[in-house]
Amino acid sequence: MTRATSILGLAAMATAALATSRRAAAATETAPHAFEVALSDDAWRKRLTPEQFTILRRAGTESPESSPLLREHRPGTFACAGCALPTFDSSTKFESGTGWPSFYRALPNAIETTTDTSLFETRAEVHCRRCGGHLGHVFDDGPKPTGLRYCMNGAALAFRPRGTRSTT
Ligand SMILES: [Zn+2]
Repeated sequence: MTRATSILGLAAMATAALATSRRAAAATETAPHAFEVALSDDAWRKRLTPEQFTILRRAGTESPESSPLLREHRPGTFACAGCALPTFDSSTKFESGTGWPSFYRALPNAIETTTDTSLFETRAEVHCRRCGGHLGHVFDDGPKPTGLRYCMNGAALAFRPRGTRSTT
């Protein structure tokens, strides 16, 4: 193989890999279904702060720059604030400059997406696989290696530093 064809081959492989990851992101979209953790609004209100309730249970969005988790740089896990399911690892967190905690990859079997057509644009809404709590949105303008940007509400997440035990 000549050098030129091997470079072309690599480019084709990279394009194929990108297409696969896009498809994989889309394939996580699931039909409405019952969630493993299902509580009444009253029960959620008891468990969550008013801000957490608005975000997780009413698909609200926190003010940009408001989350202390923006400045959380320790190794650890970001879990759903509703049901404590680990959703993102600190190794995939990056500085997006948006004012919301951002990640390029979710943990396996942690999140699901649905199409959100509010705000006059189509976005992929991200929610917790276990309790259905709204976490944020995912966009395809993220960094390598996935090209995805999970734009999360810090209030919908609970950080657990590595080496500490889950309380649930
Ligand atoms: Zn959850």
